Order: sequence, then structure tokens, then C-alpha cells
Amino acid sequence: MIRLASSLCGALLVALTANAGADDPARLLEEIREISYTRHWHEAQAMLDEIAGEVEGFPPRQQVEYHLLEARHLTLDDRSREALSRAGELLDLPLDDDQRLRTLQFAANVAVLLREYETAFEHLLDALAVEADVDDPGAVIDTYNMAGYMFGRVGEHERAAVYGERAVGLALELGDRNRQCVARQRLAPVYKWAGMEQRAESEYRRGIEVCEQIGNMLFVGVLKHGLADQLRKLGRLEEARELALGSIKLLEDSNFPLGEYEARLVLAEVLHELGDEEAWAEQDLDDLSRYFREGELWDQLARLEALFSARAESDGSPQQALAHLHQYLDAREHFLGRDRAMQLAYLQVQFDSRLKDQQIELLAESARVARVEQLAAEQEQRSRTAILVLSSALLVLLVVMLLGALRGRRHFRYLSRHDPLSGLANQGWFLQRAEAMLARARQSNKDTCLVLADIDNFKRINDLHGHLVGDGVIGQTARRLREAFGEDALIGRVGGEEFGVMMQTGRIDDVVDAIERFRQQGQESGRSRDPRFTLSFGVARLQPGDSLSDLRLRADQGLYEAKRGGRDRYVIVDKGGVGGESGLSPA
Ligand code: GH3
Ligand code: MG
Ligand code: MG
Repeated sequence: MIRLASSLCGALLVALTANAGADDPARLLEEIREISYTRHWHEAQAMLDEIAGEVEGFPPRQQVEYHLLEARHLTLDDRSREALSRAGELLDLPLDDDQRLRTLQFAANVAVLLREYETAFEHLLDALAVEADVDDPGAVIDTYNMAGYMFGRVGEHERAAVYGERAVGLALELGDRNRQCVARQRLAPVYKWAGMEQRAESEYRRGIEVCEQIGNMLFVGVLKHGLADQLRKLGRLEEARELALGSIKLLEDSNFPLGEYEARLVLAEVLHELGDEEAWAEQDLDDLSRYFREGELWDQLARLEALFSARAESDGSPQQALAHLHQYLDAREHFLGRDRAMQLAYLQVQFDSRLKDQQIELLAESARVARVEQLAAEQEQRSRTAILVLSSALLVLLVVMLLGALRGRRHFRYLSRHDPLSGLANQGWFLQRAEAMLARARQSNKDTCLVLADIDNFKRINDLHGHLVGDGVIGQTARRLREAFGEDALIGRVGGEEFGVMMQTGRIDDVVDAIERFRQQGQESGRSRDPRFTLSFGVARLQPGDSLSDLRLRADQGLYEAKRGGRDRYVIVDKGGVGGESGLSPA
């Protein structure tokens, strides 16, 4: 989509030179958006198609709006991958904060649909960082919604529920039923995963009610599918069947195949458990299997194959049961074998909690393999090949479990080195890397500076605004430090609200510039209701014969002086003590 990028630049020029708002594309797009959300998206897409030729002449904001809408439609048209890459292209452009936030939210949502959790978490954390700069309660609700849902997915149920409840609360406050519908659709599964069945059920039912009131039948369908799945697990099969049937119909009418097929899977499971042969026979399960396979929805496919296997087993066809077990194992292997770049701690938690489940399930499956083996042996057809097949299945199991253990180890190593709140290196890892950096600096005669930074009066921020806001300030600080000090600096969270930065530079001016950049960002960004905050900095430069402790001691002394001198400033300490080089520099 280089075309978009260049056309945006073109449009910028046009916007500067031409008389803006000739035919008011902003209003037109607002209308299309309304139609997309309240009527059928086909209708909205048709309108987009009509103006496709003129888009390049729109002002940049409207161009982005156009592509966001089209990306939404791509998802509804089951082309989520295209939608995700379109969002990715938009994110490469210099977007306004509010549009960036909406794009990040959208991209995270689609990535979840595609089960690309790495991408999803990257976008979520970016969104939570940008959220602080956006003064739009609606967009904030959307971000909380997503945070609630995604933290829930990784088993962070408490955190998830806090975000989810805040989203519902804010939507109620605003009287925004659209957002209430969405918020409840996000919150309900959080309670389901947390095992809080009654809360979940009541959240699902209230969600269904409010979504029905505003006529958002897509969400009613999604909610019904979720509730059906939960009631099935609770053994309330008749209710589950009704809900699943309703959901399939709604999702089919809303043209949302992914949801529809997931609901079909739940229905199949319910019918199997009900032993309803007639209804079972009417399903097109090959279609289901094909859909999951083509979409590479491996965990859904595994669930379906497990169902087929159980079915064949109860039909008295152990050979077929075995064949499906193989398919099941194959799907699992695919699922586990996906490429997972380990970038974010939460991502790790997500996969590992799933991995644990997988392993328990696999153990159960291996018991079943043994049972099936016995059955097969009893049949006259028992043969060596069956045993061979079984042992290869067990081998696959073993390999899969081994891989799981290996990943577990990497996961714990990552967790032990990073701080989940800020994503920065924790104290231990920071110091370890700082030592290595010093050693390299000494070898190559490179200069190095250490900065210790501490948020000013942080206790007061917590007391006045609550710990959640405090946590947000820590996250924002981490993000701003990364921006100000750049990629090459080593940055860590070395205490509650204390940060360390190691820079390979001998020019104290580089450090001072970075600190000034940091302070500049603080003055430029932030919503009016966010707490303003400042940091104090202590700076020390590596001198011959210095150990890391010497360096830390001096930086710490500088920090102490900066606090004593009134905060929101930096103090450089060289070997001769405070003021060794630049003296006190009021910020
Ligand atoms: P000063 O300007 O002198 O640094 O004052 P201060 O209030 O920032 O310093 P103090 O050491 O008195 O208080 C630090 C507070 O930081 C106390 C602690 O509750 C809070 N804190 C530490 N870690 C976290 C965290 O992860 N989240 C939140 N919200 N607060 C934290
Ligand atoms: Mg402090
Ligand atoms: Mg402190």
C-alpha cells in the first residue's frame, strides 16, 4: 500500500493548497460508518466502492477513515488477514493519536480473530500507551474493552475484570448503549474463563438484552454462541442447543462466517452429547472441517477431530477413531508449532497457560490411545500396523510435550528478566547487561554514561488517582524513555518508580539532549484529566578505573541532589563530586 502512503503525502499538499471541504467527505464517511454499524455492511461497502476513485483527493484523516471502514468490511467478509495488513499499513503512517488508537484497537481485534496473539498483544500494549494521549471517552472504553478481553484470554482474570468493568461502567455513564453492548460482549467471556459461571451468565444475558435493544444482531449472535458454549460445559444441553441454533442463524444473517462456524462447532458438540442422531445427521460437518482447515484454525479443527474420534469410538469403529485421533494430534501439532516470536511477557503467559491445558489434554488423549489400542486388539483385524501407528502417535505426543517443556523454559527465562508492567528489563537483567556493556566499553575504549531516573512525588499520584493510574504513569514513563533515549540505550526498571538508562556515549550533551526530549514529550502530550508528572535524573560518566557500583553510586548521588534541589531536574556528578563537569543544571 505504498500507493496510500504517497497519496497521503499528495493529499497533504492538496489540503494545504486547495480549499478544504469541497464536498465534505468527512460527513459522507460518517454516514457510511453509521450504515456499516447499524445496517448491513454490504450496503456501506457499496457506498465506499462508489467513492473509491476520489479517495486519493480526500484529506488525510478521511483517507484513513475510508481505509479503516474498508478494513472492517474485509474482516466481516472473512478476509481478516487482508484487513490486518491494511491496518498495519495505516499504522506505518503518521496518524493522529485518536485514529492511531482506533487502528491499533481494530488491528488487535483482528489479530485475536486470527489467533495471532503476538501481534494482538503488541497492538494492545501500544494502544494502552497511546490511550493516555487521547481525550475521547469512547475510544478509552474501546481500549479497556479490548484490554479486558485480552488479559482475560491470557488468564489475567483479575486485571481483565477491572478493565472490563470500567468499560461497562464508563459506557453506562455515557449512556452509550452501543458501547455497552460491546463491553458486555467482552466482559462475559472473562468471567467464563475465570470460572465465575453466574457472573458470566448474567453478563451474557444482559449483553444479549442490550445488543438486541439497539439491533446489533451480530453481537447478539456472538453472545449467544458464547453462552451456548458455557451452558454446554455446565451440562445444560437443551438450553445450549437453542442458543447455538439462534446464534448460527444470526451470524449467518450478519454474514460473519468465522462466528457462524464456531457456533456450528458448539452445536455439533451439544448434539453429540445429547445423542440426538437425527439432528446430528443433518449437519454438514465436512464443510466445517474444510473451513477450519482452510482457515488454519487449528485449535478449532482439533476440537472437531476430537469430536469425530469420540463419535467413531462410540460407534464401535476404533480404527476410524484412531484415524481421527491422528488428525487431532496433527492439528494440535500445527497449533503448537506455530511460529511464536517471543516479544511480550503477556504473550508468553498466554501461550503457556494454553500450553499447560494442551499438555493435560494430550495426557488424557494418550490414555485414550491406550484404550483404543485395546479395542483394536480385540478386533479380529488387529494387526501389527495398528500398533505401529499407535506408537508413532505416542511418539508425536512425546515430541509435542518435549517441545512444550522447551518453550516453557524459554518463557520462564523471559519472565525472569522482564518487568511485565513496563515491558522493560528488570533490575537483575538490567545490571547483568550493564556489566556486559561496561566490559565491552572498556575493551573498545568507548565512553559510557549511566542515568538513574525517579518519578517525582509518585506516592501522591497513587494517593490522588489510584494505583491503576499510577501503573499507567509507569507504562508511559517507560514508553517515553524509550523514545527519548533511542534504540541503542539500555533501559530498565530498577525499582518501583525508578529507572536506569545506560548509554554508550562520552558526550554528556547527548544525555542532556535525551533528558530534554523526555521532558518535552511530557509537556506536549497527555489529556487534561491525566496527572502531570515529572522525573528527577542523576547522571554519571564512566571514568578510568570505575566499576559499575562506582558509576551507580555517583548517579544515585546526582539523583539525590536533584531531588533535594527541588525535583524535575538533572544533576551530573563526576569523580570530583557534584558539579565536577557541568554542575547543577536546573531543568
Ligand atoms: P520522590 O519525589 O521523593 O521520589 O517521592 P515519591 O513519592 O515518588 O517517592 P516514595 O519513595 O515516597 O514513594 C514511591 C511510591 O511508589 C511508593 C509506592 O507505593 C509506589 N510504587 C512503587 N511501585 C509501584 C507500582 O508498580 N505501581 C504503583 N502504582 N505504585 C508503585
Ligand atoms: Mg519517586
Ligand atoms: Mg523512589
